[in-house]
Amino acid sequence: MRYISTRGQAPILSFEDTMLTGLARDGGLYVPETIPTLTPDQIAAMAGQSYEDVAYTVMRPFIGETFTDAQFRELIAKAYAGFGHAARAPLVQLAPNHFLLELFHGPTLAFKDFAMQLIGQMFQAALARSGNRVTIVGATSGDTGSAAIEAFRGLDAVDVFILYPHGRVSEVQRRQMTTPTESNVHAIAVDGDFDGCQALVKDMFNDFQFREDVRLAGVNSINWGRVLAQVVYYFTSAVSLGAPHRKVSFTVPTGNFGDIFAGYIAKQMGLPIGELVVATNTNDILHRTLETGAYTKDSVTPTISPSMDIQVSSNFERALFYAYGQDGAAVASQMDDLKKGGFKISQGAIDALRSAYASGRVSEGDTSETITRYLAEHGELLCPHTAVGANIGEKHLGTVPMVTLATAHPAKFPAAVEAATGIHPPLPPRMADLYDRPERITRSKGDLVAIQKIIKDRITS
Ligand SMILES: *Cc1c(COP(=O)(O)O)cnc(C)c1O
Repeated sequence: MRYISTRGQAPILSFEDTMLTGLARDGGLYVPETIPTLTPDQIAAMAGQSYEDVAYTVMRPFIGETFTDAQFRELIAKAYAGFGHAARAPLVQLAPNHFLLELFHGPTLAFKDFAMQLIGQMFQAALARSGNRVTIVGATSGDTGSAAIEAFRGLDAVDVFILYPHGRVSEVQRRQMTTPTESNVHAIAVDGDFDGCQALVKDMFNDFQFREDVRLAGVNSINWGRVLAQVVYYFTSAVSLGAPHRKVSFTVPTGNFGDIFAGYIAKQMGLPIGELVVATNTNDILHRTLETGAYTKDSVTPTISPSMDIQVSSNFERALFYAYGQDGAAVASQMDDLKKGGFKISQGAIDALRSAYASGRVSEGDTSETITRYLAEHGELLCPHTAVGANIGEKHLGTVPMVTLATAHPAKFPAAVEAATGIHPPLPPRMADLYDRPERITRSKGDLVAIQKIIKDRITS
């Protein structure tokens, strides 16, 4: 299996190099040269299998020679052993034909654990073999950073530095980043906002000397290994509801478009998916784009579903690549226009996007109302991101079963949940001591040189 860039100008890579590289050298994102398919019989055989067995069947064709069969099975087993639910991604029924896919039973209570735990194992195995070390630097608005620190803590081929905006992540998110005691993981609280943190990370990647000195690597949501790991739960949930003999639809609370794009891949692999519905909060660039055909940047408004507060949705480039019939030059020219503020999608491409994805937007008031109503009418406490999904999902109910992805545990966003329901959602018992563990934080004013020095001083060379 070989990987090509969405902009058509970067070297073709193996799975291993795609995963370790992250962003392609032409600025594009890597996608598989061809998408492997599974037959209806292969999908039917997943019924009743463990999450790990389905994960192996779904991901194996994408891995190529990077790992042996036995080694890949072992990495999958290790990745999901720390989840708090034997099914890993259990389905709960909300209403007739409406289901919730609980993706929050991982160690940091958000769906990002599914991908991050696996790529932690894959990075470690690939680096141990080559004898190399890498330094992972990432910016987070909360969930990605906690999932990365949790996944890489204690792994000896990797040092991890996560920059987060000081005072702007939830207390649970912060403590998940600052309480691990392993010396290879570091949380850096930066003055300013998430965009500032992201700009610093970008500057570090553009500083080629530094990049080489510390062997910089990224695990942000454009990493193909992350998208791939998210394809699996579309299969496990659809098969539980009758696939391949019956179609299943999905509604996905969306920010950077990684999770819903994994659903698109599942469909291309042969899973009979009805609708794939993008659910956004008031930061609605994706919903507006599907409605108007123009992708135009706006400013970010903070919401109670902060993990979806984005201005530019990085994985959307992959969706565009397929909408433009895998024409890298067309994608490259649109991305050039984005630097000037936006672009208009061609008629053929917008038709393709509209047939692949439906969409909806939920206001802040409706998000809170949905949390309140789902507790009263369905007995479920939803996190605000999941509430955005459930609100849109119920508008698309019909004869095809609808699965709404529950992307985080309500206890990760207690303030919004308590405001809507009067209930302070408790942490699961296995992490109840989170508030008692000592924190380890490095504060920084957000000066590039100072942060680069912190990193150089602390890495194991
Ligand atoms: C990251 C995140 C999302 C958005 O997922 P994307 O793959 O970026 O679209 C939604 N909900 C929660 C809780 C998240 O952490």
